[in-house]
Amino acid sequence: MASSLIRGKHLLTPAGAGVTTLYDAAVYQEDGVIKDVGPYQSLRDKYQPDAELGGLDYAIIPGLVNAHHHGRGVTTLQMGACDDCLELWILAGWGRRPCDYYLITLYTALNMMASGTTTVMYNHPQGAVATLQEDVDAVLRGFRDAGMRVAFSSFPRTQNRVVYASDGEFLSGLPADLADDVGRFLAAADMSDDDYFAFFDDTYRQYHNHHSGKVRVLLSPANVQWNSDDFLLRAKEYAARYQTGIHMHLMESAYQKDYGLRTWGKTPLAHLHDLGFPGPEVSFAHAVWLTDGDIELLSDAGATVCHNASSNLRLKNGIAPVNPMLARGVNVAMGTDSTAINDDDDILQEMRLVSKLHRQPGIDAPAISAGQVLAMATANAAIPTGFDGDIGALEPGRRADLLLIRLDRLENPYLDPDTPPLELILGRAKPQDIAAVIVDGEILLQDGAHPRISQAEVLQELREQLAHPLPPATQATRQMATRLAPHVEQFYRTHPPTSGTPHYAYNSRI
Ligand SMILES: [Zn+2]
Repeated sequence: MASSLIRGKHLLTPAGAGVTTLYDAAVYQEDGVIKDVGPYQSLRDKYQPDAELGGLDYAIIPGLVNAHHHGRGVTTLQMGACDDCLELWILAGWGRRPCDYYLITLYTALNMMASGTTTVMYNHPQGAVATLQEDVDAVLRGFRDAGMRVAFSSFPRTQNRVVYASDGEFLSGLPADLADDVGRFLAAADMSDDDYFAFFDDTYRQYHNHHSGKVRVLLSPANVQWNSDDFLLRAKEYAARYQTGIHMHLMESAYQKDYGLRTWGKTPLAHLHDLGFPGPEVSFAHAVWLTDGDIELLSDAGATVCHNASSNLRLKNGIAPVNPMLARGVNVAMGTDSTAINDDDDILQEMRLVSKLHRQPGIDAPAISAGQVLAMATANAAIPTGFDGDIGALEPGRRADLLLIRLDRLENPYLDPDTPPLELILGRAKPQDIAAVIVDGEILLQDGAHPRISQAEVLQELREQLAHPLPPATQATRQMATRLAPHVEQFYRTHPPTSGTPHYAYNSRI
């Protein structure tokens, strides 16, 4: 049995919208489970740990949870897709260089852990159906070897795959040779509903609760415009049967909201409500274009929103109404969507961005609190992952997932004693300040180094693999996407989203 006592000058853990802060406190863990939290000296007197970590130069916070992430290669920018309007950016991802999912997962896991992420909600992108299971096995081996906790899901787009209208209808308006090429490309990624749910069943049986209990397998419709109502209802039924969660994108762009208005005369969320779909087991990534009515529906259903501030800015989707959601009691988590503002999955930076973005102008206007931001990256984010109750807070009975943050740079050359420790960490901490990343009581990153994986070797292997010339078929797909882009742009120009009154007013023209 391995036990340790981890000491900090400040121990911070979320408590509702606030934070509990203890001075000179410690966590005592045995075999990966927190047994006690309290004043350091009393825990020191009570237990005989195998090891002692930390001290008065450190702060302790729970391991951070990235509640929305994908594996899309090194980064989308490095893979050739520059930031653009979401719908065109997705198209720019067609013909992406094939990658070794095991290596890419090690790479992304080390990146995420460097800023303190210990659990990730990983949403596998739709790729080649023929290699899907193999790719998923490689991803989950990668997270296992890195030691991260993962809530895994994979999403299939089964309709409206080029623009937000039927594939057949859209292709019929294209030049014949382009329509043929696109048709063949789509056919290679065809996945029937039955195939998806069989894939889910296999993956669930093989991995759910496996890898030392660090894996959960969730369902994932892609979005309302990309899957049929039958698919959504089947996912809901499967979630009840398998007692697991559902994670999906929703209302990320104004065009996605408009699809609902065009198709059902209501927002996509209102349509999901008609289907009886939202519930506590459901989490929605993005949810930028919500109406006040949608926020009510989310709150009443007990569903989660996974906020992706960087991604929403980078892909021209705007700013999600986080303050109104929090005010209405919606459970809001946060993630990097693998498109963080510095292109590096830095969750500390993402927390900082969230804390600044939702500070509305005016003395009485809402501003998100530091405690709310911490909760969004810990306790709130734990809920949709399926690890709720196990992670997200430093309490006896939970898994010992936590960070030791070195305080010297943050306090140097001076820190006023009135500065609250959480404000200090949220305002100033960077990956270089993380002394240790601990999962299940095991130190997975100590001053940036992993006990079993060499980041230098991972990078070297990636460099060698990615140096190969682009395969001819991938090159051809890219050329096809370039030919297709003006037609996609034209579709959205002729389907402009309905404008409305924003939740936030950041400026004014009159
Ligand atoms: Zn996403």
